[in-house]
Amino acid sequence: MPKQDFAMSRDANCIFCKIVAKEISAAVIHEDSAVVSFLDIGPLAEGHLLVIPRDHYGRLTDVSPDVCARIGSVLPVLGRALLTVTGASAFNALCNEGQAAGQLVSHVHFHLIPRRSGDALGYRWNAGTYAEGRAAELAAAYQRALAQHH
Ligand code: AMP
Ligand code: ZN
Repeated sequence: MPKQDFAMSRDANCIFCKIVAKEISAAVIHEDSAVVSFLDIGPLAEGHLLVIPRDHYGRLTDVSPDVCARIGSVLPVLGRALLTVTGASAFNALCNEGQAAGQLVSHVHFHLIPRRSGDALGYRWNAGTYAEGRAAELAAAYQRALAQHH
């Protein structure tokens, strides 16, 4: 039997799983054994893409390293195609990870959003600052957390 790289998993109620299975239509622009990319149906700009794993993962924090690597490996290729097709000079590549971050569809996905200087989308957060010593405390907490998880 041929070795399968990725265990296929799906969620029966998930709209993106249905797109992967071709049960509902989408303007698919790239498909491989791990990743599918298609036009966002509600574009923030013409040519706005979504990039998703074929398998159903609700959250980025659930995605296996292999699948994450496969997603990451197509981002530059899709990004170049996006710049060519749309004529945009830039794009935002982002993942809304969790409801409070704006995630509406719970099948992990990356947005590639074409950008032009002076476009109406805007993109600036209100950046904060760290009190003396706080950044070092947080860095130490991250290092402890990472030591536990790996
Ligand atoms: P998020 O808020 O990050 O979960 O983004 C979900 C995105 O999925 C939105 O930008 C929607 O426009 C898009 N979307 C939802 N349903 C579909 C669909 N059937 N085909 C293409 N894009 C979709
Ligand atoms: Zn799904």
